[in-house]
Amino acid sequence: MSNNYQNYIGGRFIEHSSGDQIEVFNPATQAFVGAVPESTSEAVNAAVAAARQAQRGWAKLPAVQRAVHLRAIAAKIRQHVDRLAEIITREQGKTLDLAKVEVAFTADYIDYMAEWGRRIEGEVITSDRAGETIFMLRKPLGVVAGILPWNFPFFLIARKMAPALITGNTIVIKPSEETPINAFEFAKLVHETDLPKGVFNLVSGRGASVGADLTAHTDVNMVSFTGSVDVGMRIMSSASKNLTRVNLELGGKAPVIVLDDADLDLAAKAIWDSRVTNTGQLCNCAERIYVARSVADELTLKIATFMKSTKFGDPLKQSGLHMGPLINKQGLQKVDALVQRALAQGAELVTGGRIADLDEGFHYEPTVLINCSNNMEIMHKEVFGPVIPIQKVSSLEEAIGLANDSEYGLTSSVFTRNLNHAMQACHALDFGETYVNREHFEAMQGFHAGRRKSGIGGADGKHGLYEHLETHVVYMNH
Ligand code: NAD
Repeated sequence: MSNNYQNYIGGRFIEHSSGDQIEVFNPATQAFVGAVPESTSEAVNAAVAAARQAQRGWAKLPAVQRAVHLRAIAAKIRQHVDRLAEIITREQGKTLDLAKVEVAFTADYIDYMAEWGRRIEGEVITSDRAGETIFMLRKPLGVVAGILPWNFPFFLIARKMAPALITGNTIVIKPSEETPINAFEFAKLVHETDLPKGVFNLVSGRGASVGADLTAHTDVNMVSFTGSVDVGMRIMSSASKNLTRVNLELGGKAPVIVLDDADLDLAAKAIWDSRVTNTGQLCNCAERIYVARSVADELTLKIATFMKSTKFGDPLKQSGLHMGPLINKQGLQKVDALVQRALAQGAELVTGGRIADLDEGFHYEPTVLINCSNNMEIMHKEVFGPVIPIQKVSSLEEAIGLANDSEYGLTSSVFTRNLNHAMQACHALDFGETYVNREHFEAMQGFHAGRRKSGIGGADGKHGLYEHLETHVVYMNH
């Protein structure tokens, strides 16, 4: 791994003129990992100009040929799974196994989007007039800016890039300040393929400068953002000045409803899995549990047993871990503050509840809280850590009411063996996704989209792909 990273603009790695850098540290050890350019507006302008220049030629290529380029990138990624996984783990802190899954999934995702090369469809509509055909062309938007968070940093490049490119757009990616290095490794692999220059560009930098510049840029046609609600709102406000389209994948506070007829082993394992995977730093993982009063103790015991068995530590030093550290000190302090406030408000600790006593790294003890209630912050604010707050409910209706009482509306889950209850919940839950009797984690052919403050628009599948196209109607008199 090189420590000399340069922005990737117009098919070239370009020496950054200001010389300022963002330093990246390993959250498990606080050791220095590398440094990337802290770019200026100049780099943003150059990247957007390169993307703009490349876009017409790229859009003219038949989509099946664009697909060949995408598949070449996926193939490159597959040749380097272990190396890339180690880089992701070193700067982000997830386990190596999860990082390998992330890299493999990234390649699969790119291939999946490449399949759409033969499936992008327009429409023909009957006209009111004789001798006229009305048809709708689907055209690329132009230049897409992809602004990324740090939790699945490598996969999210593909989630932005692949649907944009297959539909004939070009892209400028800005990775998170926390995890930019894997993105530069991604760019290096792109560079080894024959992808036309300027189709994929990468500029690193701070959100308040590079991110804001991209968002406000008059030559960007869509800002595709994944991250927090606060930044999403700022992006929308800034993009509105040019009426730039936005696609916002924001935070979540996923409720999990467990009814008295549920398979409690299945539910407990899925809840645990969701809270330790990526150390609970997932937008769609179980953030609050609503369990039927009669099975609450049994479920709590099962979840607590799983949580107590959780192995955590430095994923590059120990194998077989379930989770690594949180991303940084602020993340750790935020999780602990939410837990302490919940305890002060009357929640009861079953296990965990404190910063882990390890020599180094931002580790939090896997935590289970009971006696939680919806007036506690922990049931409303995104925790983004290995914490499971549990609240007892008396009916499905009560659980649904509490679940919907949130500013977030990304994902939700229901565990029940009763089909009527499951269907009732699916209709009543006001969320973009519901998982029934299964673990969290969306499919690439689905549609990942949030209601309320969880976002605007969505990603994945046909519907995510079509967000990268606009409709041009032609009235053909013949
Ligand atoms: P964040 O919002 O702090 O940062 C995300 C990106 O925005 C970074 O690249 C940052 O540099 C940039 N940014 C910051 N200020 C900006 C500005 N003014 N203009 C433009 N860009 C700016 O989020 P994070 O802490 O990196 O990620 C965690 C959040 O992401 C969580 O809330 C999580 O739920 C959410 N997330 C959502 C999904 C989803 O699919 N809905 C997926 C993953 C993560």
